[in-house]
Amino acid sequence: MAKIEKIMLQSTTGFTVEVLNLGGIITKIMALDKYGSRSNVVLNYENLDDYHTNSLFLGCFVGPVAGRTKDGKLPIDGKIHQLDVSLHPNSLHSCKDGLHNVFWEIEDQTTDRLVLSCETKDDNCTINYKLTYTVSNDILNISNDASSTSKTYLTLTNHSYFNLSGNLEQTVKEHELKLNCSHFVRLDQESLPVELVPIKDSPVDFSIHQILGEAIESNAIDIRNASGIDHPFKCESQNPVAILKEATTGRIMKVSTTQPYVIVYSGNFLHSAISESGKILNRFSGICFETQDLPNVINNKLDKVVFVTPEAPYSHQTSFSFSTL
Ligand code: BGC
Repeated sequence: MAKIEKIMLQSTTGFTVEVLNLGGIITKIMALDKYGSRSNVVLNYENLDDYHTNSLFLGCFVGPVAGRTKDGKLPIDGKIHQLDVSLHPNSLHSCKDGLHNVFWEIEDQTTDRLVLSCETKDDNCTINYKLTYTVSNDILNISNDASSTSKTYLTLTNHSYFNLSGNLEQTVKEHELKLNCSHFVRLDQESLPVELVPIKDSPVDFSIHQILGEAIESNAIDIRNASGIDHPFKCESQNPVAILKEATTGRIMKVSTTQPYVIVYSGNFLHSAISESGKILNRFSGICFETQDLPNVINNKLDKVVFVTPEAPYSHQTSFSFSTL
């Protein structure tokens, strides 16, 4: 079996990001606090072997189809392509067909840039994926690119859990979030999207900065169905789409993307894994910003479906930019 390699990227400001060749997993993002010291602001496992299964999807690349897909079915030109459905009855992040726990090739590596690649083949097509991480100043940019030999459907993302306090004694409930989005998507009991509705006056009204705990602890049905925040928000043209703040360290993170949705997931199902700092990961220890298509859009048609073809390859960019108050 290939060996897990850790690759460290560094910018001229001293901002560092650690990535694994397994699943393109981000294990460290060292961000400055308002006192000038850096700490890791993403969740990781103490034991590298946990990344071989990575049931919590910590820090990984997610694809070929991120999010939940009803019955794992992808209808493409009248033919159904079946994704693994080990999260019965639906597929979550492509389940066993996912690329989050496979080894990627290191294509190119410099101080501030890493290019990973991966190829998959099935009866339908051969897909070549390219995943590029670049650091500049205190910004991490991720580019997800893929080309396919025939028509297919892809939606790719990164699944880093952020905790800007850098201290796992604290959950993210005290973090403040603002989203430049005017609509979110309601979910059914299987957490599949049902309808696009305004965020204004909803339990997830992040149109102004709101403390995450207020939304997480709300008794509204939208929150209870998902056991917390786990909702797609529609990205309008305005970037950054998300601004997260943590008052005690003064850290701010801005998320910008070319993608149509961001799934904000407050770590509702995190449990019992041990992090590198020796602390146990619990519910709400971290928050993900998964920039991608609307989950299950290929079946629910609640928005435009964009297929990948040999003429129209997949390309999307997301950046996470760090600063202090
Ligand atoms: C999904 C959650 C899921 C979690 C698993 C998130 O991306 O939105 O519904 O439980 O991943 O780690």
